[in-house]
Amino acid sequence: MSFERKNIQAMAGYASGEQPDSTDVIKLNTNENPYPPGPAVVAALSGIHVDNLRRYPPPTASALRESLARLHAVNPDNIIVTNGGDELLRLVLATFVAPDECIGIAEPSYSLYEVLAAAHGCKLQNFALQSDWKMSTDFAQQLNAANIKLCFVVNPHAPSGVLTSAAEIEKLARDFKGVLVIDEAYVDFVDPSASHDCIPIIRQLENVIILRTFSKGYSLAGLRMAYGIGAKSLIDPMQYKTKDSYNTDFIAQTLAQAAIEDQTYAKFTWRQVRDQRHWLTNELARLNLFCPPSQSNFLLVEVPPTHSAAILYQALKSQGILVRYFNLPGLANRLRITVGTVAQNSKLIKVLMSILNMGSDT
Ligand SMILES: *Cc1c(COP(=O)(O)O)cnc(C)c1O
Repeated sequence: MSFERKNIQAMAGYASGEQPDSTDVIKLNTNENPYPPGPAVVAALSGIHVDNLRRYPPPTASALRESLARLHAVNPDNIIVTNGGDELLRLVLATFVAPDECIGIAEPSYSLYEVLAAAHGCKLQNFALQSDWKMSTDFAQQLNAANIKLCFVVNPHAPSGVLTSAAEIEKLARDFKGVLVIDEAYVDFVDPSASHDCIPIIRQLENVIILRTFSKGYSLAGLRMAYGIGAKSLIDPMQYKTKDSYNTDFIAQTLAQAAIEDQTYAKFTWRQVRDQRHWLTNELARLNLFCPPSQSNFLLVEVPPTHSAAILYQALKSQGILVRYFNLPGLANRLRITVGTVAQNSKLIKVLMSILNMGSDT
C-alpha cells in the first residue's frame, strides 16, 4: 500500500548528472563553471561568525536584493531570491498554475520542468523546436491556441546552447497570453556583442519572469542560490505567499552578495569560458564532431553515424572524463560537453583523438 498521491506514484524523479566523489575525474557533465568562486567569496566565508547563525536570516534576502537591483537597474521589488533556480521553477508552478491548467515547453529542454509539473499535478504540452533548435515563429500563437497558462523557455537554449535574440523573446512575450518564464541559467556566458538583454522586457510587460542563478556564472552550484526578475505583480505573490518564510540561509545570502559585488572576477571566468568554447568548437570540428553555435558553457556535439554516442560516452568515462549522454529522441546521437579549463579541454581533445583513432599522425 502506498500513501503517495496518484501523480507522485506515477511520476519518475529527476535524473541528475553523475556527481563522482573522486576529484581525479574531469567533470564535463553538469555545466558547472570550471573556475572556483572568487577571492571576495572566500573572504566573505571566512568573515562569517557562527553567532550570525543564531538568528533567522533576512526573510527576503533584502541586502542581496538591493545589490541585484543595482546590478540590473531594476527595483528590489522586482526580485525574488530563491534556494537555487529549481525552487523558483517550483514556485512559479505553485503560484500561477492550477492543477487543471496546462503548461507549455519547447522540446527538448531542461528535463526538470516535466518532473516539477508531474509533482505539481498540472497538465503539460510539448511543442517541438525547429531543426535549428529555435522556436517556430508562430510559437506564441501555438501556445495561445492550446490555452497554455505558463511556458518555460530556456535561453540560451539547453541542451543546444543556441541563443534566441532579445527582440524575438520580446515578441513572444507580447503575443503570448500566459506567463512566460525565461530561464537564463546560462546567460552569463553569452558573447557581450550578441543581443540578449531581456531585462528591459520586465519593465514593460507583466507576464515575464527571468530566472538567473549563481550555480553556473558565479561558480556557486553548491550554495543553492538563484533569483527571479519580473514585474512586482508577479514577484509579490511568490515573495510573500508561496515561498518558504526563510527560503535562503544567512551564509548563502552573504556569499551570494559577495559574488555579485565582484563582477570583475565573474566576468574574468565568463571570458575564459567563451574563449575556450571557441577553441573547443574548432578542435572538435577537426575531429568531425560538429555542434550548433553555442552561447553557453557547453556544446551539444553530434556524433557521426560511423560511431555511437553511447559508446563514446562510455569510452570517455573509462578514461576519467565524464560528459552527458541523453538517451532521448533527437538527442541519442549527441553528447553534451561542458566547457572546462584549458587543461581539461586539451585532455578531452587528446583522449577523443585516441578513441576515434585520429592520432596526430593521421
Ligand atoms: C542549472 C540550471 C538551472 C538552475 O539550477 P540551480 O542550480 O537550481 O540554480 C535552471 N535551468 C537550467 C536550464 C539549468 O541548466
